[in-house]
This record gives sequence, C-alpha cells and structure tokens, in this order.
Amino acid sequence: MTAAQELVLVGGGHTHALVLEGWARDRLPGVALTLVTPEPTAPYTGMLPGFIAGHYPRDTLEIDLAHLCERAGARLLRARVTGLDRAARRLHLSDGTALPYDIAALDVGITSDLPQLPGYTEHAVSAKPLGNYARRWEAWRAHVAAGAVSPRIAVIGGGVAGVELALAMAHRLRDLGAEITVIEAQRMLPNIGARARKRLLAHLDHARVRCLEQAEVTEISPDGVSLQDGTQIAASLVLGAAGSRPQDWLRDTGLHLTDGFVTVGPTLQAVQDAAIFAVGDCAHMAHAPRPKAGVYAVRQAPVLQANLRAALTGGPMRRYTPQRDYLKLISLGDRRALADKWALPLEGRWLWWLKDRIDARFMAQFRA
Ligand SMILES: Cc1cc2nc3c(=O)[nH]c(=O)nc-3n(C[C@H](O)[C@H](O)[C@H](O)COP(=O)(O)OP(=O)(O)OC[C@H]3O[C@@H](n4cnc5c(N)ncnc54)[C@H](O)[C@@H]3O)c2cc1C
Repeated sequence: MTAAQELVLVGGGHTHALVLEGWARDRLPGVALTLVTPEPTAPYTGMLPGFIAGHYPRDTLEIDLAHLCERAGARLLRARVTGLDRAARRLHLSDGTALPYDIAALDVGITSDLPQLPGYTEHAVSAKPLGNYARRWEAWRAHVAAGAVSPRIAVIGGGVAGVELALAMAHRLRDLGAEITVIEAQRMLPNIGARARKRLLAHLDHARVRCLEQAEVTEISPDGVSLQDGTQIAASLVLGAAGSRPQDWLRDTGLHLTDGFVTVGPTLQAVQDAAIFAVGDCAHMAHAPRPKAGVYAVRQAPVLQANLRAALTGGPMRRYTPQRDYLKLISLGDRRALADKWALPLEGRWLWWLKDRIDARFMAQFRA
C-alpha cells in the first residue's frame, strides 16, 4: 500500500475554510489532509463591525474550523507555522515540531500591528488578528462599565477599516459620552470614491468622532497616544487599524515575495515553487494585483480546491482571474450601511439588511 500524500493547509483563513467545506463533500482518496491553525475557530471580518456595535453576539462571527475538519476527515493541529524548509518539504511549527508536506497552501492573512512604534506592543491592540481585538473590546467595556477606566479611544489609521470600527464603537458607547479620535498619518479614507468619502466624514462628525489628518503617532503609553507635534491624546483603548503587514516568517522561506507577500501566479502557486500555494491576504497576485479584501479570498476557494486536487493527481490546473472591483458595503454603526461602487454612493437600512443577508449566507454554509 502506498503512503498517503500529505496535503497541509496553513491557517484557517476564509479560503481554507471554504476548501475544507468542499473537501467534506468530496474527499480525495489517498490524501491525508491537515489544517494548522493557532485557534480552533476563525473570526469572519465582515461581521466584526456589527459585533463591535452590539448587533451580533461573539459566536455568530466565528467559523468553527474544528467542526469543518471533523466533517472533512482532516487533522487539526493547534499551532502556528513559523518556518518552511522547502528542500526537505517540512513546515516548522511553534511547538518545535516539524510537519512534512507534499503540497502546502498558505492562508495566514496579515497583521495590522506596528511593532516598531514605541509602546505599541504593550499598550495597543490590533484590528487584525481580530480575535484578540474582540476579546480586548469586551474586557475593556467591562472596565468602562465598572467605572475603572474612562471611555476614551484612539484609533490609529483612517482607512475604511479604522472608520468602520470607529463608527461601530461610537454606536456601542453612545450613551457613555465616549471620546473617540481617529489618527491618520496622511489623508482620511484615501481609497474610496470622493462622494462616499464625504458622506463617511459627515457620519464621523455626526457621531462626534474626531479625525486628525497628517498626524504622526510617535509613542503609545498606558495613558494614550503622543503625536509628532507634541499633542497628547488621552485614551484607555488604542486600536491599530493602519495598513496591512505581512507575517515576518515568510521572509525566511526563500519564496519570491512582493512587499513581503507571497507572489503567486494565476494557478495560485508560488511563482518558483509549485508545491506551495498561497491565497487570501498573504498572497500577492502578480498576474492581477488587487487590494487586500476578503472578497478575493472567498472567490479563490473553488480554484484553490481544484488546483490542490490537480497538484495531487496530475490533472490540469484552473486559472484565477479576480474581478476588477467589488461592492463595498461599509457599516455605519447603527444598522445602516453605505455602498461604495457606483458613482452615486447609496446608504440606508436596506443596505445594512443586504450586508447582513450576504454575511449570514456566507456563515450558514459552514454550519451544514
Ligand atoms: C474591520 C475590517 C472590516 C473588513 N471588512 C471587509 C469587507 O466588508 N469586505 C471585504 O472583502 N474585506 C473586508 N475586510 C478585509 C478582510 O478581513 C480580509 O481581506 C480577509 O479576512 C482575508 O482573509 P484571509 O483568507 O486572507 O485570512 P484571514 O481571515 O486573515 O485569516 C488568517 C488565519 O490564519 C491564521 N494564522 C495566522 N498566522 C498563522 C500561522 N503562522 N500559522 C497558522 N495559522 C496562522 C489566523 O489565526 C487566521 O485564522 C475587513 C477587514 C477589517 C479589519
């Protein structure tokens, strides 16, 4: 009897969750499937602002990876991958062990931490990985309710994620006289349409969220944030939502990287290693670069699934061509959302309803 081929999924990001779901319905005989993930669940970012605003309980945004593995007949290894020996085809894990693979796929996302910023690691929390943020938010709110800390928040990063989260937090704290400041090194909301930007700025103003542009954070302390010009922003919660940083260990893999992200071609294979696939935010699609967004991670899933099978069986590969743009539904805190895609930005309760339906449908497929 020949030994099973080892297929290892690294990280339980959106693409891998969908691949596991597909595998549960259609397994490939002779293949041992393993998922390496630090947590047995993975949070779905689309619903994070709704959770922060208090519209969803915590468990509604968790994808149950352990359950998916059980259904797919896959082994779940609770660990972080810390390195990759491509010559020996082994993954190094945070528990000091090594895991052999024939084919491996990386879906480990990004991080929004700022380790070079003095005081960040000790006193701030990053929006991603978001499990941490969700936990800290709940604990911080309990402290606020107990009167132990004042409801002052500083958000570092004035992109869509920072703004959406600031509006969600403002909504949740609306009766507490919270002070929320968004600090942006350049211009607020640089990557959305001009009209949608204008509306979002008006919503921030209405929610009494202060926005500072061209403001550079130099240090974070237990009392808040210091800016380059000497301004001090008092805050008992500092949230980092500035940009996307690739994971450091990818640097030592010898894989071709673009700005630190694994460069892949249309088959989602690393450009100079056909045994490694990379998807979601940790990958850079050289053939069709796109911003980091969950919509691409989700759409890559059927192609990854087909190509993992092809790599294991020698069949033909599929090409992934991402859509040019997508409908961005930005939640406004209070069960309303704004759409940024068409020239005229639309907003209202019906768009929140639409977003809620899309998110609920996405999550339902994992509960089969
Ligand atoms: C507030 C907010 C709102 C957003 N809203 C939207 C939206 O409405 N629409 C949209 O398209 N995009 C949105 N995004 C972006 C979206 O969240 C990401 O593009 C998406 O999550 C990327 O998915 P992924 O598959 O790359 O993996 P991720 O969801 O990032 O998951 C990566 C997984 O890998 C695991 N992992 C990490 N490191 C390791 C390791 N070393 N070893 C093993 N496992 C590891 C992590 O635990 C995690 O579970 C939003 C982001 C934020 C912050």
